[in-house]
Amino acid sequence: MAGFTVAIVGRPNVGKSTLFNRLLEQRKAIVDDQSGVTRDRQYGIADWNGKTFNVVDTGGFVAGSDDVFEREIRKQAKVAIEEANLIIFMCDVTTGITDLDSDVANILRRASKPVYLVVNKVDNHQRQLEATEFYSLGFEHIFFLSSMSGSGTGELLDELVSNITPEMGEASLDTDLPKIAIIGQPNVGKSSLLNALVGAERNIVSDIAGTTRDTIHTHYNMFQKDFMLIDTAGIRRKTKVNEDLEFYSVIRAIKAVDESDVVMLLLDAEKGVTAQDLSIFSLATRKGKGIVVLVNKWDTVEKGTNTARDYEKELKQRLAPFSDVPVIFTSVIEKQRIFKAIETALEVYDNRKRRIQTSVLNEILLKAIEAYHPPVVRGIPIRIKYVTQLPTHTPAFAFFCNLPDDVKTPYRNYLENQIRSNFNFTGVPLKIFFRKK
Ligand code: GDP
Ligand code: GDP
Repeated sequence: MAGFTVAIVGRPNVGKSTLFNRLLEQRKAIVDDQSGVTRDRQYGIADWNGKTFNVVDTGGFVAGSDDVFEREIRKQAKVAIEEANLIIFMCDVTTGITDLDSDVANILRRASKPVYLVVNKVDNHQRQLEATEFYSLGFEHIFFLSSMSGSGTGELLDELVSNITPEMGEASLDTDLPKIAIIGQPNVGKSSLLNALVGAERNIVSDIAGTTRDTIHTHYNMFQKDFMLIDTAGIRRKTKVNEDLEFYSVIRAIKAVDESDVVMLLLDAEKGVTAQDLSIFSLATRKGKGIVVLVNKWDTVEKGTNTARDYEKELKQRLAPFSDVPVIFTSVIEKQRIFKAIETALEVYDNRKRRIQTSVLNEILLKAIEAYHPPVVRGIPIRIKYVTQLPTHTPAFAFFCNLPDDVKTPYRNYLENQIRSNFNFTGVPLKIFFRKK
């Protein structure tokens, strides 16, 4: 991760994710009063007075036996020490200092990085008095907060960002891990998919569409592979229906596409592809993102012999001209093909990284050009002499020729098809340029 990174560490239920959400929030905070929610590490970008930093919530876990619990929390502290430039150590005034707090404090005191002790749930004056006991933990920087109301967060942030120097650069979630965005219309099954992948209730699924927070990046490990899922679903709460909800959900989808390498676009099998889906699809294509289409709620469709094949064919016609896209029929409810979907997204990620050696490329494509020449213009034959893959993020090819402006779309499409039929670029938009030799 580029930029300054802050990790939040502490026992479950002290309010870490409440603070995490608050730091990420540009709009009004909504508090999740469901506790004991399992989640992996979460990453987000916060912004205060024009300075940005990464925030890592090192996670909460459902209580197991005491020693599992202690082991986990030590691990959390160590991860924080490794990954972060600054650590927020969060305690809860309502429980006072627990043994586990003292343990974690011992680990953190030995860290060579600044540790800010944050005593949370200091909601009123009485609790302010009680909070003074935390001075005994011996940290130089101590803050009293109510993450729920936001009181005290300003002071914390002021001091926190004073550690950030311009040389540290803008915060960015750009790790080397594949980043897969889960995109789709409200109620298509995004949260259910996340839940199924985690194997536990990370998100609270409800029938209320839309939420009011930004993208969340979650680190996963599956099939011996590490990757990030970017979701816009967030933790579901009972929110009041808000007229801006639709607007923000589109904005967040665009943001998630921007932040991703591969877009997993969920469709509702019954509803089919909507205009909104097509505009996200074409946005992702223009931005050169990898794409996998999931036709979800496949369980709700009555099936004959060729249903899937016909469905896919029709769908691809709507997605044209870019139709070399994997289509997976999923049922999150019945846990059908959801791992296949992730595997496919990771394959598309690899395809997008594919680099073809110039010699191999020329050998195959010059032969294809020989077999089917570009048309003659104004009596002059178009001669393509040479092709190379450009050193770009997303696959792009340059064909060097005598009349670059005269090569028209049908021939361009022929060349793209030749590339696709010889090399695996499934799910990846290709850019093709013609240049003067
Ligand atoms: P985590 O497990 O450490 O991530 O804790 P959560 O953020 O999930 O919070 C646990 C519980 O404490 C939730 O019910 C929150 O609503 C509550 N909580 C969080 N911050 C505050 C606070 O400042 N004051 C009060 N009174 N409750 C809070
Ligand atoms: P989100 O708004 O995209 O996050 O959608 P949710 O995950 O909240 O799902 C909306 C509704 O669709 C919930 O009632 C889910 O139980 C239901 N749902 C999700 N996936 C499936 C599926 O594969 N089949 C069926 N029948 N229902 C599903």
